Amino acid sequence: MRIELTADKLNAAGCALIPTMGALHEGHLSLVRLARARTDRPVVATVFVNPTQFNDPADLERYPRDLERDAVLCAEAGADIVFAPAVETVYPPDQPRQPVTIPPVAHLPQLEDAGRPGHFEGVCQVVSRLFDLCQPVAAVFGEKDWQQLQTVRAMVTLQHRPIDIWAGPIVRESDGLAMSSRNTHLDDKHRLDARALYRALNASTNAPDPSSAEALMHAELEAINADIQYAAVRDAETLMPLVEHTDRPARALVCAFVGGVRLLDNAPWQPRRQD
Ligand code: AMP
Repeated sequence: MRIELTADKLNAAGCALIPTMGALHEGHLSLVRLARARTDRPVVATVFVNPTQFNDPADLERYPRDLERDAVLCAEAGADIVFAPAVETVYPPDQPRQPVTIPPVAHLPQLEDAGRPGHFEGVCQVVSRLFDLCQPVAAVFGEKDWQQLQTVRAMVTLQHRPIDIWAGPIVRESDGLAMSSRNTHLDDKHRLDARALYRALNASTNAPDPSSAEALMHAELEAINADIQYAAVRDAETLMPLVEHTDRPARALVCAFVGGVRLLDNAPWQPRRQD
């Protein structure tokens, strides 16, 4: 396995790409393993803490970074290359930033865009740049960031890029908390409280319709005094509110601050049949 810090000797064309911000955990490594299992092409994990997708400078500042450890873990999981570019490589100061098409699924009232305006502009910008630099034929994204996954899928379609998007299932701690680099910021009490997100998703499956599912999710999150950003049931692909009697797949999505840490989770949802 090799580590590349610049694009000069990258030679990644035709690879399967796994974009990450580092501080890798089993959730990220499952995506590397998924790529390794699906293709004989080079598997390239990128480690880049993208400044343009943070709207809170303190959040960017305290984002955990440990490239040496990340590289060892990527090698063990089957990656061929770790690409860890500097900000100047991704955004050369002497080149104007290319405008990027942002799909509608990135901009919906109440979901990520409400609490993190501009976040998906940053995501689309960095993913486009990494696609340009690495020229992958496939890229792997986690279902953990469901709206991001749908945004990237829609962006690739809008940009007519010949890149397959593969989705990796959410990897959880043994008590159900979705793995996240941000979990390390939780103190002991809030680490226990954080289980409420998974409880909320489980509770939602007892509901006959989206609005009662949303009420059940809110109740679980209110019970731990979480600062709820959203708890919603939406169309799984467009993330629009569900139309009545639809048979399109739906998704329950939750986001809340617990002990000052912004946590996300989601799960498939369908109305519980009333017998
Ligand atoms: P990040 O480093 O947080 O930008 O995440 C990089 C990729 O890993 C994204 O596609 C995430 O959705 C994915 N990811 C993060 N946590 C998990 C998890 N617990 N399970 C599955 N995928 C994850």
